[in-house]
Amino acid sequence: MHYRQTRAEISSSAIKHNANWVRRIMEGGKLLGVVKADGYGHGVIPAVRALEPHVDGMAAGFMEEALAVRESGYKGPLVILEGCFSAAELTICYEQDLSPVVHCEQQLECIEQAQLRSPLWVWLKIDTGMHRLGWPQEQAQQALNRLQSSNNVSGVTLMSHLANADAEHSRNASQKQQFNKLSDTLSGYQALSFHNSAGLLNPDTQWPLQANDWLRAGLLLYGVNPSSVTEVQTELQPAMRLVAPVIALHKLEKGESVGYGSAWTADKPRVVATVAMGYADGYPRQAQNGTPAMVRGQRVGLAGRVSMDMLTIDVTEVEGVQIGDDVELWGQNVDVRRVADCADTISWHLLTGVSGRVPRVIV
Ligand SMILES: *Cc1c(COP(=O)(O)O)cnc(C)c1O
Repeated sequence: MHYRQTRAEISSSAIKHNANWVRRIMEGGKLLGVVKADGYGHGVIPAVRALEPHVDGMAAGFMEEALAVRESGYKGPLVILEGCFSAAELTICYEQDLSPVVHCEQQLECIEQAQLRSPLWVWLKIDTGMHRLGWPQEQAQQALNRLQSSNNVSGVTLMSHLANADAEHSRNASQKQQFNKLSDTLSGYQALSFHNSAGLLNPDTQWPLQANDWLRAGLLLYGVNPSSVTEVQTELQPAMRLVAPVIALHKLEKGESVGYGSAWTADKPRVVATVAMGYADGYPRQAQNGTPAMVRGQRVGLAGRVSMDMLTIDVTEVEGVQIGDDVELWGQNVDVRRVADCADTISWHLLTGVSGRVPRVIV
């Protein structure tokens, strides 16, 4: 039973729709649905169930997340994006049929030394310029040779990750060129994976996906455009609607302020609504005055500082606002990207940051 009306509505049909839209855009290739971080905050179980019929594989961040995906009933290919560092984890990979990423020497040694009853499919990650995870390009062939000669390896997907695909940046073309060169010159791998959501849409990083190319899509599946450059008209449907009720209304005279720090002051008589959504729910405290929200079908703006359990909005222009009215903080009407901009952050951060005390309601 939830007494507080605050909730994140999760639309399974939106996730399905987005997966199908992504499939049309990618024109071939394989789709890896990324469900790390509790399905980008949507709940791993609803995310996995919605995606299962529409993807060729899924990806989790680390072992605990991969096990949660298996527990939700998914039996298909499942990649662990940070890979494994111990023999115990590799044994679970074998038992649960998981594919670890191998991004460094320690992980490769671990695989070479493991005693597995049957071999694993692994993803070898090469660094083409992001310098976060991955092998230096000049060591890639040697790493592939070692994987090929290990009894614990049945096949290899060669992967790399883009650092700037969501924006225009000269490194996009250079990363793409380096990955192309690697895929031409290296031998001993069976499949490729280069693109994330933004990489699929960015003209500088696109290429026609071949049958053995995997797109690793996260944000797009949840209905949010990752790219600031794309001219592509997306047909995405946001899968999360963050909603909270009005729990108080106050009339402010000109010169009166609302909330901590008195960070917003009425420039004329105003009506302010208090909403049951705060930073402990995952709404960003950094959000500026004027950050959009919607109530009674009308766009309103944040007024004053976000506190732990509540925030305040200016509803002066909205007719008939009452206690109990739903306020959309982001979703189908309020673009989470705009909220992210107003809080100097990104959509990924907001979606994954919705906290455990906000019930996820499947609609
Ligand atoms: C999270 C992640 C993705 C998915 O990124 P989106 O931008 O959400 O599509 C792809 N690849 C790797 C290696 C990741 O860690």
